[in-house]
Amino acid sequence: MSNLETAPAELVCRGGEPVEAGVDVLTARDVPMGGPRGMRVRRTLPQRARSLIGAWCFADHYGPLDPSAGGMDLPPHPHTGLQTVTWLFAGEVEHRDSLGTHSLVHPGELNLMTSGHGICHSEVSTPATTVLHGAQLWVALPEAHRHGARDFHHHVPTPVDLDGATARVFLGELAGETSPVPTFTPLLGAEIVLEPGARVRLPVAREYEHGVLVDTGSVVVAGMRLAPSDLGYVAPGESMVELSNVDSRAARVLLLGGVPFGEDIVMWWNFVGRTHDEIVAFRESWEAESDQFGRIGGYRGKLSRLPAPALPNARLTPRRHP
Ligand code: MN
Repeated sequence: MSNLETAPAELVCRGGEPVEAGVDVLTARDVPMGGPRGMRVRRTLPQRARSLIGAWCFADHYGPLDPSAGGMDLPPHPHTGLQTVTWLFAGEVEHRDSLGTHSLVHPGELNLMTSGHGICHSEVSTPATTVLHGAQLWVALPEAHRHGARDFHHHVPTPVDLDGATARVFLGELAGETSPVPTFTPLLGAEIVLEPGARVRLPVAREYEHGVLVDTGSVVVAGMRLAPSDLGYVAPGESMVELSNVDSRAARVLLLGGVPFGEDIVMWWNFVGRTHDEIVAFRESWEAESDQFGRIGGYRGKLSRLPAPALPNARLTPRRHP
């Protein structure tokens, strides 16, 4: 996924934000991707009220949509200091990156790309796709690893039966299932499908904070009812996350978690860095077609690469947190 907001704000995202009891509901904002005819996504991270959940720093939810009316077609674009998680509920996406990866992304399969110091990739929904539906998530890399090598992992989690629900654990550990995909900070990522009326209590790590991103249905988390595309935030200190499907249809959520990220990050466009000057340098490097991001073969689209938008005029100061 590329962050294609026409005037992306530079965000200084502080790790270890204030912790409040209960569940905070983070509602999505509608963001057009790739211009007025491109697909629209519903973004819950980052936002004013919260920038990070663990190392999860970006969450877009999209579809179900008919890609013939404008699907995903993202020309080669760069990333730094992050990992991208592509998780589909329906459809098929063709991924190419400058590590040399060429993969088809399918529902229920983790595709995790690590940018390290720099990578570029393209993502296109395939002609076979009649319904496109999924989530695009980013994970911030900690200081010790953000200048590291590019990497890519594909993993198909085994569904776990939770008596009324089914979990697919794509990162970390939940319900006795552990993903073999390594992470750079303690992290959890799982898809959970709840049968109508089902209630599940999931033991979780007490030191983690969690986010419940609702895909379909109506789900109650700790007494708070969440609608589709809402992200319910649960502060650290809980040893159990309870999910109730209060609808007469199945519900589906993504459960994200992690130890609060202890570093401030600066996010702008497709870059995660630590300072304004670093972001400026990443942008110049991409515009100069430097080796930092490598090259992709095989992408055939309107543009050979996405140009970076203009930087904001002002040098941005850290944003305040409520
Ligand atoms: Mn991307």
